[in-house]
Formats: sequence, C-alpha cells, structure tokens
Amino acid sequence: MPVSGSAIVKLLPGRKPCRDCGFPTCFAFSMKLALGGTTVDKCPHLSEEAKTQLEEVLAPAIRPVTVGAGGNALSVGDEEVIYRHEKTFVHPPGIGLLISDDESEESVEQKLKKIEETEFPWVGLTLNPDLLALQNRSGDKDRYLKLVNRAHDTTEVATILISEDTEALFAARDVYADRQPLLCPITEDNLDDAIPRIKDGPTPVVVRADGIENLVSLTARLKDAGIEDLVLDPGSMKLLDAIGDQTFIRRASLKQGFRPLGYPTIAFPCFMAEDRVSQTLIAASFVAKWAAFIVLSDFDSHTLLPLLVHRLNIYTDPRFPLAVEEKYYEVGQPDEQSPVLVTSNWALTYFLVSSAVEATRVPAYVCVKDAEGLGVLTAWAAGKFSGDSIGEFIKKCGIEDRVKTRTLVIPGKLARIKGELEDALDRRWEIVVGPRETTGLAGFLPAFAKKLRQ
Ligand code: SF4
Repeated sequence: MPVSGSAIVKLLPGRKPCRDCGFPTCFAFSMKLALGGTTVDKCPHLSEEAKTQLEEVLAPAIRPVTVGAGGNALSVGDEEVIYRHEKTFVHPPGIGLLISDDESEESVEQKLKKIEETEFPWVGLTLNPDLLALQNRSGDKDRYLKLVNRAHDTTEVATILISEDTEALFAARDVYADRQPLLCPITEDNLDDAIPRIKDGPTPVVVRADGIENLVSLTARLKDAGIEDLVLDPGSMKLLDAIGDQTFIRRASLKQGFRPLGYPTIAFPCFMAEDRVSQTLIAASFVAKWAAFIVLSDFDSHTLLPLLVHRLNIYTDPRFPLAVEEKYYEVGQPDEQSPVLVTSNWALTYFLVSSAVEATRVPAYVCVKDAEGLGVLTAWAAGKFSGDSIGEFIKKCGIEDRVKTRTLVIPGKLARIKGELEDALDRRWEIVVGPRETTGLAGFLPAFAKKLRQ
C-alpha cells in the first residue's frame, strides 16, 4: 500500500528546516522518501524509534525475497498492484521441477539434465524453467543428502529444499550454504527448533500452516525473532481454495498493508494433480494469481513452453510494447551486394520479418528503426516511422559502410513514404516497395537479390 508524503512527515522531527538532508524542508524530504528517491538515514535528527517506524512504513507491501546465487538468483515479491492492468507485475514467478529422493537413478539423471538444458528461444528472449525442488520423500536422511549433493554438484539453478525432517532439512541447507536455498517447510511443529538454525545461516524459508490465520501467527513469531525472508504456503491442495488463499494474501498485503501477510507465496501443482497437463493448467492459474514460486513434478516441451509464454505475457509491462534494439541486423551471412530491408522495432514485427528472410535462405540486412515498439503501420500513423526519420536512421546506422548497393526495401503497406524517403536520403538510394505482408518475402526476395547482383 503506497504511503503518502504527508503521512511520512508526521514522523519527521518537524524542526525549523535545517536542510541537513539536502532538502529545503522536512516535507520535501518526506515527499522524496515516499517516491523512493532518498533514504531515511539522510536525516541525522531522527530518533532510533522514529527511524524504525519510518522503515516499517516505507517497506514494500510484499517483501522482496531472493533465492539462489549469482546469475541463477531468482528475486520475487516487491509487487505493487493486485491487477496487472493497474500498472504492471514486476517479478515473474520461478517455475520449478521437483525431484524426490525415492525416484530412480535414471529419473533423477533425466530431470537434472532437463533443468539444465531446457530453453526456448522466443522473440529475442530465452525462456526456461528456473528452479529445482529437492524433496525428501523417502524419509531417509542419508538418501536425501545423496540427492542434494548430487544436484548441488550438477547444477547451479536456484533450489528449494523440502523435508519434513528438520535434521535432514538443515543438513541439506549446509550443503547449499553457498547458494541461498529456500527451505521448506517451517511449521508450528519445527518453528522453535528452526529459529536458531536459520539465524546461524540465514536463508529464505517457506512458512507452512493449515490456513491463513495460523500463517499469521507463525510469520509474526519469525519476524520477532528477526527472520524476515519468508515465503508463504497456506497449504491448500484444492485449486479453488488455493486461489482463494492467494487472493486473500494479496489483498491483505497490498490493500490493507497487513504486514504479517506481506510476503511472496509458493504453490505446488506437483502435489495437486497427477498428470502433466492438469499440473500445467493449475500452474497457469498461479502465474496469473500471484504465486511467486510454482513447482511441477515434471514437464515436457509441449506443456512447459505454453506455461513460460503465459508467464512472459502476464509479466510483460503492458505500458511498453516488446521492442528490439535499433540497429541493422544480419540474417545469414550477407555481403556488400546483399539486400537491405527496413522495418520497425516492435519485437513481433522484427521476428516475423527476419524469420521470413531466413526462410528464403537469402542473406540480407534488416535495418530496425526505433518506433517505440510499434508495428510499421501504427508507427507511421503515430509519426514515428516517417520517410524523414527512416532516412536519418539509415544514414547513421552504419549500413552504408556495409553495402555497395544503394537499394532499400520498405514495407509494402508504406508505399506512400517512398518519395519522402528518397528525398531524406538525398536521392542516393533507390527505394523499392516490398511485399505488403512478410509472407510475400518468399516470392519477392530471391528474385530481388538476384537482380541486385546483375
Ligand atoms: S534533515 Fe531532517 S529535520 Fe532537517 S530538514 Fe531534513 S528531514 Fe527535516
């Protein structure tokens, strides 16, 4: 729940402006604090009590939590809105693969390989699962630690360690001490035993309780003990109940600013359904409905790719279209006689054009002009893809040093800018109107490339 500058100023000393914080008044300082533009410690006149109060008031409604280390670290939480259309969702949920210590050698081997190697290229991005969950299902501590050590030595992906046996859980934490694992579960039964151990080697923990009310008392006790990197598991195993719990937690933290529930959540489709398709559908619900970690018992490319694309769509900022960098791109290995095409930088447009060019097997240059992520026709209508601006871009992007030819193919739907573009390029370039649709490049480009070399 965002806090206002006027609420913050009440906690400030309110003395005659001393400007020691760098701002002309306490109110100016409080406004900046509310926007996250400065920090509490910049005012040297705060009592310890006021400082603590302010830090409490200014803390994110959903605490950010990071699991894993280095390039594999996964940060979640710190969300600001209930619905994506209100602003944007910020940290995509981790999607993980469960391996239990009672699985066969072959299955463990396959799953470890899968989590390491599974990735999909997607409109200039790489989509992949980003979590491993290691479960002690056998009840045998040694067997669990064997799995944990094996996973630790095989992959550096962010990891959840799951064991009902507290001894096994913290022994596994020691193996993963260098990787900030997520420990699961901390419950009413093991809380007192777990608190000193967590404090010995701080790492995030999953707090599990039967129902939200019981969760609240556990998070409050952990917070009192100084343990705040928490992830909530309300324990519901039916989809409707689980979504109800996620909704309650999200609303309580963001709308009511209720701190005991202001933490990211975890969901386990792997324990809610048997088959992959059902688990994928449940996981898709949790992507939309706020889980920060989602664990599957297994996946294949047919079930995982739609889920990853769904996650990408939900967590793409709706205020900004997906765009690619403004520059010229090489498709194949073009030379100084190869065709040059121009298009806008909406990611989908670029990938349709470059894929269509690639399919013709004609090496070419695709010049991508920044049009604020709009498709060509929309960008033209908005004045962001005019002949003048394309001309300027062609002159400065470096393509003139790469090709001897001076022939530029423009999208067929923008035939009307031909004359303006020729003028903008000082009539040194011939402008050719290409096909109206990218599908037309298959028939157009090979013959055009041949003509260029004659
Ligand atoms: S340093 Fe503190 S007391 Fe002085 S103006 Fe800034 S906020 Fe007010």
